[in-house]
Amino acid sequence: MSIDEQLRSDGVIVAKMDDLLNWARLSSMWPVSFGIACCAIEMMGAMAATYDLDRLGVFPRPSPRQSDVMIIAGTVTFKMADRIKRLYEQMPEPRYVISMGSCSNCGGPYWQHGYHVVKGVDKIIPVDIYVQGCPPRPEALIGAFLELQKKIEKEHILHEKYFEERA
Ligand code: SF4
Repeated sequence: MSIDEQLRSDGVIVAKMDDLLNWARLSSMWPVSFGIACCAIEMMGAMAATYDLDRLGVFPRPSPRQSDVMIIAGTVTFKMADRIKRLYEQMPEPRYVISMGSCSNCGGPYWQHGYHVVKGVDKIIPVDIYVQGCPPRPEALIGAFLELQKKIEKEHILHEKYFEERA
């Protein structure tokens, strides 16, 4: 019997630390609890009983200091931009951003004449996943979390340059 078979028969699983950490991180993502316009209604719908985003381990937190995901669900006005950046900076690394809806992606209906709207939240903070729609349906947000899980799965968080490369 090989060592591997021996370990398995004893109930021991050998895994890379990276894989273990990634599995824990992607199974328990905590978005900051806030929304800024109509897309937030669909975000709340995704978290309610019918769509049950909780089943992916996604559970909103009341503080950015306890969160690792930020969902930008709505229109990013210039007045809100500083607040969003400050909230993002208060989140510990590794942190991720989902841009939900046309407003957040590129200014949406305010793209051409909205003097008060930032034309894409990626002008103020980095975005990992973009969700199309005005507003996107809850299924689309669930799809974004599945995409984010795939991204996290491939990361090497213990690599010495991981945080440098994300900065
Ligand atoms: Fe509202 Fe559409 Fe903008 Fe979402 S993308 S915040 S639904 S106007």
